[in-house]
Amino acid sequence: MVDYLRSRMAAARRLMSSAAGLIGSDYTTEEQAWEMLEGLFSPFAHALTATAITITACYNWYSQNSLASFAAVAVVGPTLLLRLFLAHRFRMRGPDARVSTWIRLFAIMSFVAALGWGSSLSILIFTTQGLPLFAVFALICAPVQGASARAYAMPSVVILHISIVLGLVGIATTVFGIAIAIPFCALYLWYQISFVMELVALRRKMLKADYDRRRLLTQVTDYNANLASLNTQLSAFALTDGLTGVSNRRDFDNKLERCLKCQASGGNALALLLIDVDHFKRFNDTYGHLIGDQCLKLVANTIRSVASRSGDFVARYGGEEFAAILPVMDTATALVMAERIRRAVEMMDLAGLPRLDVRPTVSIGVGIAFSGTTTLPHALIEAADNGLYLAKQSGRNCVKHGAAARPALRHLA
Ligand code: GH3
Ligand code: MG
Ligand code: MG
Repeated sequence: MVDYLRSRMAAARRLMSSAAGLIGSDYTTEEQAWEMLEGLFSPFAHALTATAITITACYNWYSQNSLASFAAVAVVGPTLLLRLFLAHRFRMRGPDARVSTWIRLFAIMSFVAALGWGSSLSILIFTTQGLPLFAVFALICAPVQGASARAYAMPSVVILHISIVLGLVGIATTVFGIAIAIPFCALYLWYQISFVMELVALRRKMLKADYDRRRLLTQVTDYNANLASLNTQLSAFALTDGLTGVSNRRDFDNKLERCLKCQASGGNALALLLIDVDHFKRFNDTYGHLIGDQCLKLVANTIRSVASRSGDFVARYGGEEFAAILPVMDTATALVMAERIRRAVEMMDLAGLPRLDVRPTVSIGVGIAFSGTTTLPHALIEAADNGLYLAKQSGRNCVKHGAAARPALRHLA
């Protein structure tokens, strides 16, 4: 019993702490708050009760030939009109309407309505005679039950509302001579408060569950977004050369295959440039591998700065060799581009490197896949490789076209 009372007290405290606003306002979204207010402002139950009061007044007029009961209608009428007016204004509210304003309006309306119901029902008690008085007592339950069943979203307001209605009715009934009504009203009030508390607890549970669901959903969405971004980073890492930052061999192989397929179906001619740093072994032996690494980075950046049109692609082919895939109009354009790269490397800013006796240079072999022809990747690589071989044979730091060159060249060397 003590535990029961304690739990009731705790529930009442919770109830009072949420007195200022809608229940679960700590979990609800604004949208949910408007939804709850929509229910609160619905005038349907009030219209029904007002109709019942009017019917009772008409019946009394008919059976007792007295218009006294219409005083109850006169009281409840404006109350109902106020409700209808506010319900209409609520439906017509603008986009910048504020939940807190409408919560306050509901509280005021509920207070006025409680006075209206309480006094009109009290008038009916005084003006109804005989058995129809039972109907009036049944009618008392309507606004009370309607308020606690619908308006529990604002517990403090609904409890005040019910207390006013039952208080006025209790006083009226006692004055009328039925003193037993006081404990009955008190018990009914207690029952209604427990009922409201049950509904509040249930509603809070629902709102909390919905809140947790939304929070988890946001978390999952965030995790997915992070995962997607990590995957993008991961695939970028998997296709990037760690030292120079240009694409790696795997990316190059895929790209070449894709480009050649595209080109066979009517794209531009495609140039493949194989770019090899000259005498790089000697460079490493002279300056060390760390400086060699710096040099490779500079060369990669320089190639990228020249092959920078959309559609140009630069990769580290392996060791001190780079590859560039360039969409071109013809062989002459490809050779011009290759020559630009060669010159850019020759002239590149060597800041970050120690004073060098000899500037780093590159030899470039050019292979072309002509528009409208089908060229296999290995054939294009072989053509560019032959060009590179020719360039090395020709004294390095130069550009050679490998189209005419055939494997037989190797045997000439
Ligand atoms: P050639 O002009 O005929 O191309 O001569 P080369 O010395 O450049 O060619 P070779 O194939 O004899 O040597 C390539 C050198 O490139 C050997 C290797 O140590 C160096 N190298 C390859 N990858 C790297 C790298 O990642 N960092 C550094 N520092 N050196 C590398
Ligand atoms: Mg090499
Ligand atoms: Mg080399």
